Amino acid sequence: MYDIITVGAGPAGSYFSGLASKNGFKVLQLDLKSEVGIPNHCSGLVNKRIIKYSGEELIIDKPESATIYTPQGCIELKNKDMVVIDRIGLDKKLSKEAVEAGTTLSLNSRFIEFKIENNAVTVYYQNRGKLNKASANILVGADGPASNVRKKLGVAEPILLPSIQFDLKKLDSNVKIWLDRRKIKDFFAWEVPQGATSEVGISGRHSINFPYELLNNYPKIEIIKRRGGVIPIGKSVLGAQGIYLIGDAAVANKATTGGGLLGAFKSAEYLMQSLNKEDTFMSYKKLWNSGFGRDIKNAYLLRKIIDKTEFFYNLWYNTFKLSSKIINKVGDVDYPEITAMAILDISLIYSPLLLRYFISDLAQIHNYSRQ
Ligand SMILES: Cc1cc2nc3c(=O)[nH]c(=O)nc-3n(C[C@H](O)[C@H](O)[C@H](O)COP(=O)(O)OP(=O)(O)OC[C@H]3O[C@@H](n4cnc5c(N)ncnc54)[C@H](O)[C@@H]3O)c2cc1C
Repeated sequence: MYDIITVGAGPAGSYFSGLASKNGFKVLQLDLKSEVGIPNHCSGLVNKRIIKYSGEELIIDKPESATIYTPQGCIELKNKDMVVIDRIGLDKKLSKEAVEAGTTLSLNSRFIEFKIENNAVTVYYQNRGKLNKASANILVGADGPASNVRKKLGVAEPILLPSIQFDLKKLDSNVKIWLDRRKIKDFFAWEVPQGATSEVGISGRHSINFPYELLNNYPKIEIIKRRGGVIPIGKSVLGAQGIYLIGDAAVANKATTGGGLLGAFKSAEYLMQSLNKEDTFMSYKKLWNSGFGRDIKNAYLLRKIIDKTEFFYNLWYNTFKLSSKIINKVGDVDYPEITAMAILDISLIYSPLLLRYFISDLAQIHNYSRQ
């Protein structure tokens, strides 16, 4: 009998299991992978505050600017706080720390279902074709965006945006973002430098051709690797009493950027702080809703506004241009809502000018929808 069974050995699951083991809990951790961290789906672009969790040694790149391409033109933004971390290295490091702290890690172990029996949770999992079971006082679902623990809880699924990425020989030392809802219907495309390589990717349904368009710009570049992943978009879900969700399983990522590493760590920390409380679930909810969960909620609201207005290219482009100085000052890949608030302030000051762009966009959208 364990105190905790954690499903998933990504950053959320391993960081949480490590913390729990260090605090004297007996932890069993399951992951369906045969090697921690592989395959990797993440670009690893974060604010340097993540170094607290990753350590300096996992930084593989330090882009200093991001160029945003829109149908109206491009804008270059500066930011000295961005870093790219070795994501496979991060998963391995956190997993090693958890195991060293006492977590029992079982790889090749796919969570199937759980049952509540005699005030304990019995977890059924498949290991190399054989069905096993283990029991614990609590179950933690850290099994990523398409979480099966979340499914078994009967929670409604968030939107799951598929992504496709290509690793190429290094193209550029800075980040590039493409925002064009006519081609990338649900999200955006990116190029992120990753040490000796660059990652070109998109996320969103019906956009699969766009990365090939980008790759046409580099006809002689060899594709080293193709990979893919899933980004959950929706409201956070923290689970239920005794069955808790953290990281992407809890939709603890930003709906604006898809970034989820900080949310993975924050949710793991809040749950850890709640374990010894009389009502763990209530405490976890309170910490989340008054802490990082608020930023996640705001990012989701912002995303809904962007979804409704991104066709206003003239307006967006000129608002970004007018705000570029302030974006350079407050821009933070982990907190895009802060940038959005600063942009809103500038927009109010320039509202008469921006109204003109809004009207010209309206006319264009009207013509476009009549074609
Ligand atoms: C294309 C892409 C790019 C991204 N880029 C960034 C970025 O630049 N910056 C950023 O901050 N975030 C980024 N993210 C988001 C980030 O990768 C996630 O937020 C982060 O991985 C969440 O960690 P996690 O531990 O919750 O989940 P995961 O990393 O997904 O780990 C979940 C683990 O659970 C295991 N698992 C799943 N199902 C089962 C099961 N049934 N049984 C057992 N084990 C199971 C998986 O094998 C996996 O090891 C990106 C995501 C995508 C898809």
